[in-house]
Amino acid sequence: MVKPNERVLIAETMTDQTTAQFVHRPTYAEVDTSALRSNFDAIKAHVSGAKVMAVVKANGYGHGLFTVARELERRGVDSLGVAYIEEALELRAAGISSPILVFGGVLKDQLPLFINNDVDVTASSVSKIEQIDTAAKTLGKRARVHLKVDTGLERIGVHYYSSQTLFDAALNAPHCDVVGVYSHFAEVNPNDLFVAKEQLARFHDSTRYFQQRATRPFLRHIAASSGLLMLPESHLDMVRPGLSLYGVYPHPEMRERLKLSPALALKSQVVFFKVVKKDAGVSYGHLWRAPHDTRIITVPIGYGDGYLRSLSNKGAAIIRGKRHSVVGAVCMDQMMVNIGSDGEAYNGDEVVLIGSQNGASITVEELADSIQTTPHEILVALNQRIPRVVRR
Ligand SMILES: *Cc1c(COP(=O)(O)O)cnc(C)c1O
Repeated sequence: MVKPNERVLIAETMTDQTTAQFVHRPTYAEVDTSALRSNFDAIKAHVSGAKVMAVVKANGYGHGLFTVARELERRGVDSLGVAYIEEALELRAAGISSPILVFGGVLKDQLPLFINNDVDVTASSVSKIEQIDTAAKTLGKRARVHLKVDTGLERIGVHYYSSQTLFDAALNAPHCDVVGVYSHFAEVNPNDLFVAKEQLARFHDSTRYFQQRATRPFLRHIAASSGLLMLPESHLDMVRPGLSLYGVYPHPEMRERLKLSPALALKSQVVFFKVVKKDAGVSYGHLWRAPHDTRIITVPIGYGDGYLRSLSNKGAAIIRGKRHSVVGAVCMDQMMVNIGSDGEAYNGDEVVLIGSQNGASITVEELADSIQTTPHEILVALNQRIPRVVRR
């Protein structure tokens, strides 16, 4: 159990800092940096020689943007990946000096922010690379660029079948240093790798043209967590793990591929205890009714913290080493747990919502599975209202 002032000490900078008013909440997310380090080491060893770009977008998948970036920078990560320029700027302002790639599409007005802060920009079309080159020229600087080839996701990037136009434009952009060429899988289905293999083949066909003409070395990368776990031939020069770095598996069948440890636990405390009579409806809309007289406890967390409302009647909680069910609707700031007619719980007891206690455990993967979403969504939903406690 964490003492309140211990929590103040760990709120480190900027993104990861929790405003003082929240610090005394019993609800917090515990981030285990030793798990981050061991997952990073395991991934690094697994990809035998390929570089690792740690994906820290969306507040480090809820673990803290700066906390994760700094931990992995110290551990020797090759680069960092984020979605938006704001995330990159926050890392630069906090003193992170590793290369940072922004995956998202960019607009012309944002380009000086990239170039002035040494942030790698994704060039996803001919007009984008021309704009980047012009912006760099105007600033009298060089821009670091990763060219994006769309091999089947249809998100951003030049189509693989017309990628020569982007490569030619890049070869004619004297103020740009092309440091990478990349793509992203639409699907890595462990039971049918056809789509992924086809995308990989398209990527190879397309990059060959640039490889033959580029005057300096660049990194080819396509694999995120699923690719790096399921398709060794997709490791190429660099991999871009997000989810797996945090010790969470994209798919149950990927578990046997690599041993990873979850880096985040979500905990709270019992703040109310009561006995509910048979047939009484619990929470908004009475989505659950007591089948018999039963004991119900209340936990101070809700969808306003990012504990998804769709976990109503589906979430779980561990109290005194026993697993119980979330019953009724998850409210904005509170939710109820049925501990049964003989369950034991007292105000102040620890409640584990993600993680383990006395051998019982609740995983991000199972929560995601119970509401048919991805583990990513469970993690990134946990918002800034939840203090982060960093364990070293
Ligand atoms: C989010 C993202 C990743 C990381 O994906 P995971 O499934 O979390 O490993 C890698 N590359 C790109 C382009 C992404 O957007």
